[in-house]
Amino acid sequence: MTAWGLPVITPVLPTYARADLAFERGEGCYLIADNGQRYLDFGAGVAVNALGHANPGLIAALTEQAGKVWHTSNLYRIPGGEKLAARLVAATFADTMFFTNSGAEALECAIKMARKYQSHNGHPERFHIITFEGAFHGRTLATIAAGGQAKYLEGFGPKVEGFDQVPFGDLAALKVAIGPETGALLIEPVQGEGGVRVAAPEFLRALRALCDEHGLLLIFDEVQTGVGRSGKLFAYQQAGVAPDIMAIAKGIGGGFPVGACLATERAAVGMTAGTHGSTFGGNPLAMAVANAVLDQVLAPGFLERVQQTALRLKQQLAMLKDTYPGIIEEVRGDGLLLGLKTRVPNTEFVAALRDQHLLAIGAGDNVTRILPPLIVGDAELAEGIAAIGAACAALSKKQDAAA
Ligand SMILES: *Cc1c(COP(=O)(O)O)cnc(C)c1O
Repeated sequence: MTAWGLPVITPVLPTYARADLAFERGEGCYLIADNGQRYLDFGAGVAVNALGHANPGLIAALTEQAGKVWHTSNLYRIPGGEKLAARLVAATFADTMFFTNSGAEALECAIKMARKYQSHNGHPERFHIITFEGAFHGRTLATIAAGGQAKYLEGFGPKVEGFDQVPFGDLAALKVAIGPETGALLIEPVQGEGGVRVAAPEFLRALRALCDEHGLLLIFDEVQTGVGRSGKLFAYQQAGVAPDIMAIAKGIGGGFPVGACLATERAAVGMTAGTHGSTFGGNPLAMAVANAVLDQVLAPGFLERVQQTALRLKQQLAMLKDTYPGIIEEVRGDGLLLGLKTRVPNTEFVAALRDQHLLAIGAGDNVTRILPPLIVGDAELAEGIAAIGAACAALSKKQDAAA
């Protein structure tokens, strides 16, 4: 309390250093602030708004379902969920899935499923999961332990047991880390929060071989890479290896909170009635929207167009790197999950982009993520590149003035 009896803390828990911007509405790739200013949204709500804002197909699906039934609980069949699951089974390695409200919950299900699989097969001691440095798997107690980042673990008590970590891409270290208690490996095919670090396809194939050799389950966290973001429906399809379990969320709801834990029948063997649950997971509203997202992402030509757009965007970012080598150090990423490693702090870079009315998102390793909606058009791409160029020019000028 202050001397005036006013609380110092904001009514919303201040766990985010928020930009002083509030948006009133969105249109495709644009967000319009409450002061009327338009912003080109190349952050897409952290890879969530895959189909942009106010997408007519998604609005129709949500409002139609809203007029019928919102929620029934998982004590009854949910036809929209059965339909979505069947479509995702047909489109992926998976035989079955559990619906959640978020990425972290999808990962919680994946972690529990891997432990249950080993226990069911007579190896309850194999509850350890090996993860990779720089990982991000969510903010629950188990997923911060899986991510292993000190800044997220600090002060929250003993780290949940059973997560061992090795450097990203280090096969030798991984081989050493696999022990009698190891039951699974968990990796993001492209580390998003960690700084848009792409796992080499050979590395993912080596993980698959190691899992098969040692009786481990391979878990992919495609919460950020999934649902077309990588240019394929899922990034694993690029590497040509399938996991046993996969967590998805972000893009599948296009902005409606929904996630899923996909698995093979073999991996899901222990997950029988009563072993796991969620009150809201897979509710009719979420399922209606996710089915509508799939309608568009699975439409013929959609992913090819994402790939073409991504290639052009990456080329143009590479040209900006050549023009502004004092600002941009490296361009990385796959599909429309691109990252700029900069020579100025990424917080400064994101602010300079915002000055040009372009929204982008910071990540680890001093990277700024460029994550446009997958529907981004040629004119918006050109506008985005111009804005990034203008931000680089402004930052260069500042550097020159300081020198
Ligand atoms: C965002 C993210 C999560 C966590 O998802 P939430 O919906 O915030 O719980 C987990 N893994 C990856 C790779 C992510 O990008």
